[in-house]
Amino acid sequence: MRGDARRPLAPATPEHRDGAPFLPYARQTIEADDIAAVAKALGGESITTGPEVDAFEDALAGAVGARHAVVVSNGTAALHAACFAAGVGPGDEVVVPAVTFLATASCALHLGAEPVFADVDPDTGRVTAEAVAARCSRTTRAVLPVHLAGVPVELGEIHAAAQRAGARVVEDAAHALGARMPAGAVGCCAESELAIFSFHAIKHITTGEGGAITTNDPEIARRLRLFRNHGMEREADRLETPSPGPWYYEQQCLGHNLRMTSFQAALGLSQLTKLERFVARRRALAARYDAALAEIAPVAPVVPAGMADSCAYHLYPVLIPFDELGIPRGRVMEALRRRGIGTQVHYIPLPMQPEYRRRGWRIEDFPGATRYYERTLSLPMFPSMDDAEVDRVVDSLTSVLREGR
Ligand SMILES: *Cc1c(COP(=O)(O)O)cnc(C)c1O
Repeated sequence: MRGDARRPLAPATPEHRDGAPFLPYARQTIEADDIAAVAKALGGESITTGPEVDAFEDALAGAVGARHAVVVSNGTAALHAACFAAGVGPGDEVVVPAVTFLATASCALHLGAEPVFADVDPDTGRVTAEAVAARCSRTTRAVLPVHLAGVPVELGEIHAAAQRAGARVVEDAAHALGARMPAGAVGCCAESELAIFSFHAIKHITTGEGGAITTNDPEIARRLRLFRNHGMEREADRLETPSPGPWYYEQQCLGHNLRMTSFQAALGLSQLTKLERFVARRRALAARYDAALAEIAPVAPVVPAGMADSCAYHLYPVLIPFDELGIPRGRVMEALRRRGIGTQVHYIPLPMQPEYRRRGWRIEDFPGATRYYERTLSLPMFPSMDDAEVDRVVDSLTSVLREGR
């Protein structure tokens, strides 16, 4: 192995005009010791469901301050398992923010339930407690707030609204590993029943594909583990009929194969030791962006400076009034791309998707989501970015907006 375990292994990226490598909006940080950990696990006895999986679960639970962590094959699977464990089933409603990734709502449909969209704040894109409360009813089984970009939602108020409706809160914390709330780290479940994380390549830590659910409730943890492995139970004291022998197992519910491999868990364990360093670097990059962008009049960071210490900055979204400036967002994105800079939009509001339009949803009923979506653009943000790259993004954005006018 190479000497400096912390040296990021730069993936080969196409060179751009001025010889600078293309800067994507997000990228994984894989270091030499991560690769060594994976190689070691691949040489182990069980390359799936091995001791690395238990170790990763223990470390993750410890890192966020929850009693249980259950790792699964990806964040989408984590949402599916979490909703199952929360009791979501046919005929139920699940409250989901109008602005989030597709997976937050799909899990309800997969369980025969209906997602019910709640509007978001036009300036932060986060779902508000008022919007959640307005959507909760007797048929609501779960509420899935999203800590968009890594800024925690007002979880206490959302939890209170859910409890009044007899519903459980499943935090979609895919953007928020390393973020903090007054009640503790995101994922500690002090003000929710469950939280889910994603370890997709561009999330805070990665296992390639991977996900996890945290909870403090042992019965919920048991249901998560059943769902992850075909609904199969082998523990003698949990069987519904007495065991006739050591081969015996029962299918106690309908589940899936959502298991994680041992080498992915080994990667996750290695990455988790770097979480604080990664998040600190994201915050430092955000501070540099904040300062530089204060000079560009029509560009405002989505994350208020006052929240910088609690935010995990999965993304660095800014608001630009493209309509008022008369510059289409697509043109800005293309001009930045020509300068070797990748950007993205998070997210197209779910009520705009054909799947939900067919189910009767109309974007006109979501003024907050509409206003946020019109103006948002995510700029490059990942731990191996350097300060000069932040400056390059801000300089390019300044020129592109100036030339566009
Ligand atoms: C990434 C993400 C997911 C899904 O995670 P995968 O690991 O990609 O399946 C769910 N919700 C949000 C908000 C995400 O960003």
